[in-house]
Amino acid sequence: MYRKLIWYSNKIFNLFSIIATITDERLKPQIATVRITTAIIIMQFSNLGSLNSLSQAISVKNLKKDIPSVSTIARSADSINLEEIRNIGIEIYQKARKSKMLSPYCGMWVGIVDGHEQTTSKYHRCPHCKSRIVTKKGGVKEVQYYHEFTAFILAGPDISFILDIEPILPGEGEISSSYRLLERVLGNYSKAFSVVIGDGLYLKETVFNLLKKHHKYTIAVLKEERRQIFEEANSLSLLLEPKTYKQGRTYYKVWDHLVSGCWDGYGKKVRVISLYQKKLQLKELTQRMAKSGKI
Ligand SMILES: [Zn+2]
Repeated sequence: MYRKLIWYSNKIFNLFSIIATITDERLKPQIATVRITTAIIIMQFSNLGSLNSLSQAISVKNLKKDIPSVSTIARSADSINLEEIRNIGIEIYQKARKSKMLSPYCGMWVGIVDGHEQTTSKYHRCPHCKSRIVTKKGGVKEVQYYHEFTAFILAGPDISFILDIEPILPGEGEISSSYRLLERVLGNYSKAFSVVIGDGLYLKETVFNLLKKHHKYTIAVLKEERRQIFEEANSLSLLLEPKTYKQGRTYYKVWDHLVSGCWDGYGKKVRVISLYQKKLQLKELTQRMAKSGKI
């Protein structure tokens, strides 16, 4: 399987040749950057979670001379050229799309944006670390250092493809990071998707306006904090009959409203979908089916 993965990556994407263009800022490097990036790719392909696990795995396999040390990989990766890595991502995406490896979801190309947490440590920190106080069992408080980033994923029914990521820097929130990410993705992958989905955080006029400017639709979770839109949708739901359907033993009621004038800063209409779902007990389900003449 592993050999097949390497063979396929080279045959289809020419991977180990195109990564040779990546550079870093080390002066007079003894180990070429391509060996650093290869080691990182091997770590990913082997599904190893860290450079230390890679180092352990290669010492078991007696491959120590082929893979640079953990400290060399870490030091080089710190100054690696991100723009060059992104260009390789674009090249791989274009080949995958052209050869029809990716497919749309329900006829639409959908992007998902979300924040993710990376490493946490109470001992190790770097200048880019975020920090927070956590309360342990027994009320002991301690400082925890961690990293976060936002990721943009092109979501498909079979394969999901990460198009780009952006760090959430100390002192800033997910939206500031994702705004930079979205601007870059909209530039680099302008035709890759038509809809962007985010959680409740992304119900922000800045995000909706940016995506609208690039002719994209935005879908975000509507939470109660957005009181005006929420209340407007709720009062419309009281007046209108929902559409109903059943999947398995779950019964759904769906309201579909077009709401306008409820959101300062975003002058356009928004569509609010309210969903009510209820899992029916077998007895209740049988009663409903008997009533509708299905049994
Ligand atoms: Zn750090």
